[in-house]
Amino acid sequence: MIDTHCHLNFRAFKDDTAEVIARAKLAGVNSIINVGSQYKTSERAVKLAQENDNLYAAIGLHPIHLFEQEVDEEEIHFKTKAEIFNPAKYKKLFANNKRVVAIGECGLDYYRFPENVAKEEVKIKQIELFEQHIKLASELNLPIIIHSRESYDDIFQVLEKSIKQGLLPKRGVSHCFVGTEEQAKKFLDLGFLLSFTGIITFKNVGSSLLKIIKETPLEKIMIETDAPYLAPQAYRGTRNEPAYVVEVAKKLAEIKDIELEEVDRATTANAKLLFNIV
Ligand SMILES: [Zn+2]
Repeated sequence: MIDTHCHLNFRAFKDDTAEVIARAKLAGVNSIINVGSQYKTSERAVKLAQENDNLYAAIGLHPIHLFEQEVDEEEIHFKTKAEIFNPAKYKKLFANNKRVVAIGECGLDYYRFPENVAKEEVKIKQIELFEQHIKLASELNLPIIIHSRESYDDIFQVLEKSIKQGLLPKRGVSHCFVGTEEQAKKFLDLGFLLSFTGIITFKNVGSSLLKIIKETPLEKIMIETDAPYLAPQAYRGTRNEPAYVVEVAKKLAEIKDIELEEVDRATTANAKLLFNIV
């Protein structure tokens, strides 16, 4: 099994990374992709991948790190630092390491806006940043990991335009998908995969998301934890970790009424193919 999106590169894991990786292995989670959210965490993801055989990295600048802002939510409280995206620096991270398997997370976040900047300005800047990531991914022949929060329409506009220009040959994945049926279909039509987190195990998960999972071909699905966030129902309220991706797989098996082994086999194959992992 592969946890295709988590953040062992974040501070939440600084004291026990090795134990967390060992627990994942024990749970049958053989590979882990750590995803960067800014230069520092991208660099750390690469370092972890260099130090551990079963770890891989994605590098990129998350849209919420474009401006400095306070982020306060149920499970997170942190201050984001503004970073100016420098593709050359990220390219260097890739050049130094064969274990960088994707660009991301990148995308648009229209949920958390900084206080003292006009929303329209933030949106324009985020779209510009997203397009820079798409260009970088195309140059490096890597897939992208898309973060989208209340922004699917603009995401599709950017993707459609880019694909028309011949960019994104490797496409990518819509991480932590929670959109509508129509939006799911759109991603699939554009050649993207959908990835699901522990949200699908929550007691209050929407019936439309379950319907989407039921109807999406298994060949188009990946699983992830997004740890340290979004712990599955059985662990809700605690720090999430890659071992718990099994809970997501179990829920998928239940929704699709198939064996866990089949979910494991298919989602692992999908991830290996997309991220070119052997
Ligand atoms: Zn994430």
